[in-house]
Amino acid sequence: MTFEKKCFIETSDIQAVRYECTKCQVAFTVPIGQLDPNEAASFANTQCAYCGAPSGFAPGTQETKTFLNFITALKDISAVLAARNLKIRLDIKCGE
Ligand SMILES: [Zn+2]
Repeated sequence: MTFEKKCFIETSDIQAVRYECTKCQVAFTVPIGQLDPNEAASFANTQCAYCGAPSGFAPGTQETKTFLNFITALKDISAVLAARNLKIRLDIKCGE
């Protein structure tokens, strides 16, 4: 017999977004209800306030739009799905 452990999160489980610099690990956590695409754009379009590393995003590129669309979707998805008969469950890597 084989068992496989599966771990899922629902969009309603997401409580905050953590923006983190991969160079110095400084992080800013923003609750889902306070997500602001303009603030996300600021994180994407400026260098790290602590170590000065660039984010790697360039203003107006498709990658930047993808990033900002994702943040906007995170902000809105729980309310969009709240009264629907459809839910999204994300299959995530399980902790050991
Ligand atoms: Zn940094």
